[in-house]
Amino acid sequence: MRVRSLVLSLVLLCAGVFAVGGSLTAQEPQGGEAMATQTRTAQQGQTAAYTLPPEKLARAIAYSRIRVVLDFLGTGWGIAQLVLLLALGVVAKMRDVALGLSCNRWAQGFCFVFLLLLVTTLMDLPLDLYGHHAAAVYGQSVQGWASWAGDAAKGFLLTFVFGGLMVMLLFWVIRKSPGRWWFWFWIPAMIAVLIGVFVAPVLIDPLFNKFEPLAKTDPALVDRLEKVVARGGIEIPPDRMFLMKASEKVTTLNAYVTGYGASKRVVVWDNSISKATPDEISFIFGHEMGHYVLKHIPATLVFLGVLLLIEFYAGYRGVRWLIARYGERWRVPTQSDWGALVVLLLVLGVLSFLSEPITNGYSRMHEHEADVYGQEAIHGIVGDPQRVAQQSFQLLGEMSLTDPNPNPFVEFWTFSHPSVASRAAFAARYNPWVPGGNPKYFAK
Ligand SMILES: [Zn+2]
Repeated sequence: MRVRSLVLSLVLLCAGVFAVGGSLTAQEPQGGEAMATQTRTAQQGQTAAYTLPPEKLARAIAYSRIRVVLDFLGTGWGIAQLVLLLALGVVAKMRDVALGLSCNRWAQGFCFVFLLLLVTTLMDLPLDLYGHHAAAVYGQSVQGWASWAGDAAKGFLLTFVFGGLMVMLLFWVIRKSPGRWWFWFWIPAMIAVLIGVFVAPVLIDPLFNKFEPLAKTDPALVDRLEKVVARGGIEIPPDRMFLMKASEKVTTLNAYVTGYGASKRVVVWDNSISKATPDEISFIFGHEMGHYVLKHIPATLVFLGVLLLIEFYAGYRGVRWLIARYGERWRVPTQSDWGALVVLLLVLGVLSFLSEPITNGYSRMHEHEADVYGQEAIHGIVGDPQRVAQQSFQLLGEMSLTDPNPNPFVEFWTFSHPSVASRAAFAARYNPWVPGGNPKYFAK
């Protein structure tokens, strides 16, 4: 949770909503059940399903530690900076500047949003710079600083424009309905989320990465994937399969499903194709197809929508309480003052952190379902689905320098995917095709 994503989340409403498709690997530290898994397998005298050689293990542990610290520190700092800005009177000052600029509300609103974004971006900068530096040092990112800064600038601009529009709408609703704005704003907010998720693959994602039809790069792979699709008894036409040129920025593997309706698509990173075998790509694709077939995107939208309504109501109560208590000291007198935006972001920031275990737990459930689906989907297409799936996780873990043995609390709180070790262990033992076994999604 960063302020920028929070402001953005007034448009897109949940920071992660654009990624609701559920990628194969989280862009966050992975892990969790790993410890239990490894202990268990060690006790049984078996080999763990995901292991690293000693030198790589040391690097994976060090890099995971950095990411965990950055994750919690980033969240804590995001909340602390809002408190600081309020307590030091910076928010009131920015509000005064906005009011002094013009009596036009649009000019005031966008001026205030711009100042807030600028200040918080600068305050976040040290952690952001260090995060990119660490990714480069540990070989996860190959993106140069200029390109990195370009992406940051694009993100800033998008947040400014769309965040600004949502802020204008929010304050209009607050003035019209001071006691029920949390509900009346929730409706256009959800519409904005729906539009955002729909247009993101077409309008937003291409601003940050290059995409091309998979059929153009690798027609043989499309043929093979169409076999997996046919087994699922569904249709994903080849023109809904895209290749993303991730190798220009990162070294890790991934694939994901995004959009819905006419914009729904499967995206495979080019790194996956160059580093994984066709069998492994089939499994990765099968996993993504699971999200597609099991309708995880619409389900997540409904889930997040309900959560958001609860958070908006709590946000409304929290803002009133904070302003009653500290409004005078912060020089933010009412909820319709531009400065109240920061109070609302503060409350939503705390709520979003507290609800992380709920949203991540929900996501991990979908990820596990997609793992099961993927493994069942490649039965009969690859020789040994258990081994292929387990090897895919081994490769994913190695490429992302995933700690095989992470902290269970960190997984519970921050992991959108089950740990790589637990996914690999599950894959290695899951065989519903044995006599008496019961495949979950496919007929035997
Ligand atoms: Zn997934």
